[in-house]
Amino acid sequence: MKEHTRVVVIGGGIVGAAVLYHLTKLGWSDVVLVERKQLTAGSTWHAAGGFHAMNSDPNVARLQAYGISVYKEVEEISGQDVGMHLTGGIQVAATNERWENIKYEHAKHKVLGIDSHLLTPDECKKLCPIMDTSKVIGGLFDGNEGNIDPYGSTHALAKAARMAGAEIYVKTMVEDLVHKPDGTWTVITDQGNIQCEHIVNAAGLWAREVGAMAGVHVPTVPMEHHYLLTGDLDELTEWDGELPLVLDLDGEMYLRQERNGVLLGVYEQNSTPWAVKGTPWDYAETDLLEERLEDVADALEKGFERFPTVAEAGIRRVVNGPFTFTADGNPLVGPVRGVQNYWSACGVMAGFSQGSGVALALSQWMINGEVDGDVFAMDVNRFGDYSTDAYTLEKSVEFYENRFYLLCPNDEWPAARPHKVSAFYDRLKNSNAVFGESYGLELPLWFAPQGTDPVEQPSFRRSNSHDPVGDECRAVRDGVGILDGSSFAKYEVSGPDAVAFLDYLFASRLPTEGKVRMGPLLLPSGRMKGDLTVMGIAEDRFMIIGSGYLQEFHMMWFEQHVGDYNVDIRNRSYDLTTIVIAGPASRDLMTSVADGDFSTEAMPFMSVRSMDVGLVASQVARLSFTGELGYEVYVPTEYAGPVYDSLLDAGKQLGIRQFGIRALVSMGMEKSFGIWSREFTPDYTPVMCGMNRFIDYEKADFVGRDAALADREDDHEHKLVALEIDADTADAWGYEPIWMGDEYAGYVTSGAYGHTTQKSLALGYVKTPYLEPSGDDLAVHLVDGVRPARILAEPPYDPTALKMRG
Ligand SMILES: Cc1cc2nc3c(=O)[nH]c(=O)nc-3n(C[C@H](O)[C@H](O)[C@H](O)COP(=O)(O)OP(=O)(O)OC[C@H]3O[C@@H](n4cnc5c(N)ncnc54)[C@H](O)[C@@H]3O)c2cc1C
Repeated sequence: MKEHTRVVVIGGGIVGAAVLYHLTKLGWSDVVLVERKQLTAGSTWHAAGGFHAMNSDPNVARLQAYGISVYKEVEEISGQDVGMHLTGGIQVAATNERWENIKYEHAKHKVLGIDSHLLTPDECKKLCPIMDTSKVIGGLFDGNEGNIDPYGSTHALAKAARMAGAEIYVKTMVEDLVHKPDGTWTVITDQGNIQCEHIVNAAGLWAREVGAMAGVHVPTVPMEHHYLLTGDLDELTEWDGELPLVLDLDGEMYLRQERNGVLLGVYEQNSTPWAVKGTPWDYAETDLLEERLEDVADALEKGFERFPTVAEAGIRRVVNGPFTFTADGNPLVGPVRGVQNYWSACGVMAGFSQGSGVALALSQWMINGEVDGDVFAMDVNRFGDYSTDAYTLEKSVEFYENRFYLLCPNDEWPAARPHKVSAFYDRLKNSNAVFGESYGLELPLWFAPQGTDPVEQPSFRRSNSHDPVGDECRAVRDGVGILDGSSFAKYEVSGPDAVAFLDYLFASRLPTEGKVRMGPLLLPSGRMKGDLTVMGIAEDRFMIIGSGYLQEFHMMWFEQHVGDYNVDIRNRSYDLTTIVIAGPASRDLMTSVADGDFSTEAMPFMSVRSMDVGLVASQVARLSFTGELGYEVYVPTEYAGPVYDSLLDAGKQLGIRQFGIRALVSMGMEKSFGIWSREFTPDYTPVMCGMNRFIDYEKADFVGRDAALADREDDHEHKLVALEIDADTADAWGYEPIWMGDEYAGYVTSGAYGHTTQKSLALGYVKTPYLEPSGDDLAVHLVDGVRPARILAEPPYDPTALKMRG
């Protein structure tokens, strides 16, 4: 066994083997994998081995498609048979809502890079003769699906890695991890110690235990899962084809062929978490869990309805095995904040769809310092301290039981709520707020009319929120509105080197004291890393504002770059609360409550002042996401409630109205303002997304400067544009394709109805050839069909920004 190496990967399941292979593929050969038993000794060995590229996140879908292509690659390199059955897969719809959704998803596959097509019930039957299609409305076929041999695929990855120089030590148990002062590690195993630079936790079922060895909390929980293998079916014995992987969404089960029988798996409603308090070390490769057929009987019955001859074939074997889930079903990948050189490759619920994609992203991150594309959907740092074990348990159960739930874009799942609430929660609740959840926090989406239930009907079309949100927008545009801004992240950077540090970190010029500036962050590759707002509070003190759900993501970035700069970086997201005031009467409101001069001369747009608001020392910034005159008030959280009350009281005579995030988004869309995770992500460069106007290219140095300079010279395939759509009952949500006749011209990133302009609006990336001169003849594929659309030359509301700046 080596005593020194560059990387130790802990765990020899499909994920650990894929990580080892990808580290070598990207050029690091001095790497080892340590496995306490044999390769595949965790969840991997008893998996059904099904794979598919479908995922609602385009980058995860791209990584899954890549992962499928790796199986053949490692089979060729290693000579190890991976047992690949590329049968294609069908998603089956048996309700009208599901069928409408499937057609919508099919349109979006163009954007996700998935080459799928719709099927009639007869075509479903032809591909899957054992299906009773009497209740089937249609299906969606993707040729890039099938199943793989878990043993063969894991061993092929491992062997290919070995052939490139990696070493694998089986029957070697990692017992402890010691973090050394220089950031490197000692891996203590029962076979001796290994010194290394990086650790990768790929310990699957035992990820929590391996995390604890380094003080890292891993928010996953294993869930029991059943599938059964049948005896031979006559139809299959006599047939020379092979069944596709079938996902029966309304039947809540999946099925594939196994020899002349089938494998049928279910996601039952009364699910069973397993080993909640920790995975026993003696759970080994030959164990399976006791079958609980009575718990899955209802689900199986549904399956037998769709596949009647399966019931007759008899059950040959029942498998009940555990695998790990996270609160949102996505993996936990990347560097762990606060623990240098500790990497997570955990919580991979669909290891055969996602293993190599996870491994590629992780290896790029470790070797190149960044991933090629946006992988926030699986970033380990998307969770914060709110994701306790109890929270993860409730959310994972909810996710498991809703695996095939028809999820609408306005759906808000109820488990583990409320968990974290703002200082205004009770006030908002009493005002009939409908809440959403972000980063564990309850936030007001909109306010239901008094006397009605504060509940939003899940829908792909305009919901019961449409009219109340319209009322909120009009109240803001005509008078003044107030919004709970608790979901904003606030960071404070201070100290002798604050200017030097932030000047290097941000691509923009820094604001001087009393000023506010947009602060784009870039990756070394020049792609976007952040879209923050920077406020100059004092010469050596800055407040930085961003989206609350990105707290760990941003704090990690600050900490990774702080080096020897003499600065203090604090996440003040919890101890400060933001109140947003917007509308033409907001100056009158602020003047009546705060001790400050709100004239444009004294407090112009993009400025910040310290003053008392009510009784409380606060920072007030003149900013606007609504396009109206507006202010953001930053107060210590313990004072926030009374300040909110005093603003509401004083605003009564001005007709103040509480508004929610939906109205904010609608008004922002009327100004063509983009947001992070939609228009701005690491997929885009500043020139592509229009952030270049905030970059100071003359600055001597900043992260990503060379690439940003080159970005200005590049011909970009896509550019961000604002669109108006001739919509009817539904607006765009995101990832809908944009067409020019039959040609694919781009995709929507977000959409909303503009209640003031009375237009259905969207932002999206359009391929440059379609921008001019024919940008008038576009069409967007919405849930209710293909709708004419055109590019807007300027924001549809107040294009000269007089209202916001006046
Ligand atoms: C019944 C069932 C059906 C499934 N069907 C599918 C499917 O069709 N498609 C799909 O994509 N996924 C499926 N899955 C899920 C899939 O099995 C998992 O996503 C995948 O196996 C996770 O792999 P992993 O490498 O992360 O973890 P694991 O397979 O759990 O591997 C972790 C490894 O780490 C080792 N280890 C842990 N601690 C230590 C230590 N301290 N020292 C050394 N080694 C250690 C363990 O021994 C183990 O080998 C199924 C799972 C089950 C249970």
